[in-house]
Amino acid sequence: MSKELNPFKMAQQQFDEVAEQMGLEQSVREMLRWPMREFRFQLPVRMDDGTIKVFFGFRVQHNDARGPGKGGIRFAANETQDTVRALATWMTWKTAVADIPLGGGKGGVVVDPSQLSDSEKERLCREWIDSVWKNLGPRNDVPAPDVGSNAQMMGWMMDEYSKLRGEYVPGVITGKPVGGGGSLGRTAATGFGVIVTVREAMKHLNMDSVGTTASIQGFGNVAQYAARTFIEMLGGKVISVSCWDREDKTSYTFTRKDGIDPYFLQSITDQYGTIDKEEAKKAHYVIEDGDAWLSKDVDVLIPAAIEGAITMDNVAQIHENVKIVAEGANGPTTPEADAVIRDRGIFMLPDFLCNAGGVTCSYFEQVQNDMNYYWPEEEVLEKLDQKMANAFQGVLKMALDKNLYMRDAAYWVAIARVEKAMRLRGWI
Ligand code: NAD
Repeated sequence: MSKELNPFKMAQQQFDEVAEQMGLEQSVREMLRWPMREFRFQLPVRMDDGTIKVFFGFRVQHNDARGPGKGGIRFAANETQDTVRALATWMTWKTAVADIPLGGGKGGVVVDPSQLSDSEKERLCREWIDSVWKNLGPRNDVPAPDVGSNAQMMGWMMDEYSKLRGEYVPGVITGKPVGGGGSLGRTAATGFGVIVTVREAMKHLNMDSVGTTASIQGFGNVAQYAARTFIEMLGGKVISVSCWDREDKTSYTFTRKDGIDPYFLQSITDQYGTIDKEEAKKAHYVIEDGDAWLSKDVDVLIPAAIEGAITMDNVAQIHENVKIVAEGANGPTTPEADAVIRDRGIFMLPDFLCNAGGVTCSYFEQVQNDMNYYWPEEEVLEKLDQKMANAFQGVLKMALDKNLYMRDAAYWVAIARVEKAMRLRGWI
């Protein structure tokens, strides 16, 4: 992320611009520029060596006009209140654009989870719930995993909440392990959804997806399943992926001109999305610096790692043959770099549309929890495909009707839906 970038300012700037275009009422703007509620709390945790270490945690509820707050909990060393605010805001737009009856929230913990043992992680997760459980619930606010957290951690959190409530409440949190209240298809959902939007964009651009190429930033959950789905659903080739190397404290790009093998790369990638360089070298992958993924001669760029990845410092490196940018990550493009992409006529699939597959599947998980009846994976993915394709078509229609850039069109759709719900509830 570039040093000067504040993701919340970026989220507010994007909102302000569209609010102005829409002529949104001043009071509505004020309500939507800031989260409705925020919690910041200490998390004292007993470490394995017997000492107590104090972490900081957050939960931000941006807006719940359309339904309970929804959004992941990020465990990251560089987590800040403003990052959580930005992500909570984007969740409101994401659930609205995907047209699922949920609002926007986000949580965080300032910690490098790779430095904790499993039992320390479990105590930290339980402490997070103990601190904020009164403000959570299937009808209030429903967390999920994000960067640095996983299904097992969601399982511990659901258990802690259920203990406090004295009853089994699986719907309080999503992204739980399969067999522990989780939905089939959730692990693949975000990356799968990214590629459904790419497929729809290709149809709109009259591109034949077979033989198209992609380059991806990251090789974590979103990137891995985006790579697999790009190859399997579209018949395309993924040329490069990248990752952050925690030992070297830098990022690398891994390239194979005839296409990477995502299954092989997954087999040499740890749970934090770091690819083993030595094993990759042995398999003849070319290893370059972390920005190299951006300058590849491909049809589709998929930033699926971190926010602030495409900035004014590197946007000029995007190859002239790139036709689509599909934002798998949240906030990967700074507003200034976004303007360059728009002016170059590259088709943008904005984050809160493109990566809405995760939250949509989380919603399916809650529905299944409520029914206490679980769908087979094919049914989950089929429903997800439909929802994502509908979300894309809704935004595209808005873009064509009003001659808007896709990101602005996605904002129009989302803001209009949230405003309508606020009006119907008599808030405005
Ligand atoms: P992850 O932790 O599983 O993977 C992150 C990947 O990014 C790892 O491969 C890591 O090495 C890499 N990375 C980190 N810093 C990097 C850098 N500077 N350069 C190159 N690579 C770097 O995370 P994830 O769940 O895949 O999430 C990725 C992004 O997608 C985040 O912005 C997240 O908020 C967003 N997102 C995730 C989901 C989901 O369901 N997991 C849903 C919607 C959005």
